[in-house]
Amino acid sequence: MTPVTTDIPSSASPIHAAIELLCNARRIVVFSGAGLSRASGIPTYRDADGLWKSQNALQFSHAEDLQRDPSGFTKFWAQRLSTIESAQPNAGHAALALLQRLRPATRLVTQNVDGLLTLAGGQDVLELHGSLRRWRCDRCGNRSGPWPFHRCLRCGAHARPDVVMFGEMLNAGVLLDAQVAAQECDLFMVVGSTTIVYPAAELPQTALAHGARLITLNLEPLPHLDDAAAVVLRGASEDLLPQLLAGLSGQRA
Ligand SMILES: [Zn+2]
Repeated sequence: MTPVTTDIPSSASPIHAAIELLCNARRIVVFSGAGLSRASGIPTYRDADGLWKSQNALQFSHAEDLQRDPSGFTKFWAQRLSTIESAQPNAGHAALALLQRLRPATRLVTQNVDGLLTLAGGQDVLELHGSLRRWRCDRCGNRSGPWPFHRCLRCGAHARPDVVMFGEMLNAGVLLDAQVAAQECDLFMVVGSTTIVYPAAELPQTALAHGARLITLNLEPLPHLDDAAAVVLRGASEDLLPQLLAGLSGQRA
């Protein structure tokens, strides 16, 4: 299978073909998943050593676990937060923030709850699964900290991270913004996401159905998406994204 479609010169490498697409796009959506943050040391959902695989993760991944075992729940999530707070954005995050500076119509959509895209300078990042860096109180609706000992100062209840847990709905407003962005873009780039779970599985299809071109950038093949992609880039996002941006900056200079 050739990774490059027929309307891009067959002599062009996938990287150059992707730079060409980025140069010509008016509205870009970059959809990122765990692969983008791997180089920042964030345990991914699927990694064997990831926190999610531990027994604790299974016990505390539903919002109702907060009622069942408040202190166990808070301890688990506080530990996960501390892992994320010590992490720094990597070259992939920085490249996407730079892309948005060069092309302000670019929307950044992510499944990641680590907040690293925003920390790298990304603007109005659509965090489909929320952010572990924000906490909230479900008892009284308080969303503003501080949260001493992960308690709500207003009502005293245990606070919880503002992330979408198993069995919970996505934030409808964020999801709608992502769907509209997918419909309106002319280039959709998947970065470091297996795009298997909803809505990750749906957004690239929405973009394709509305005529957008697709770039997939992932360590592993994406069998359900790669065939529909104009360009397939296989590798680590922290290596490939800076190469794309170097090419894009060079062409614009
Ligand atoms: Zn409260």
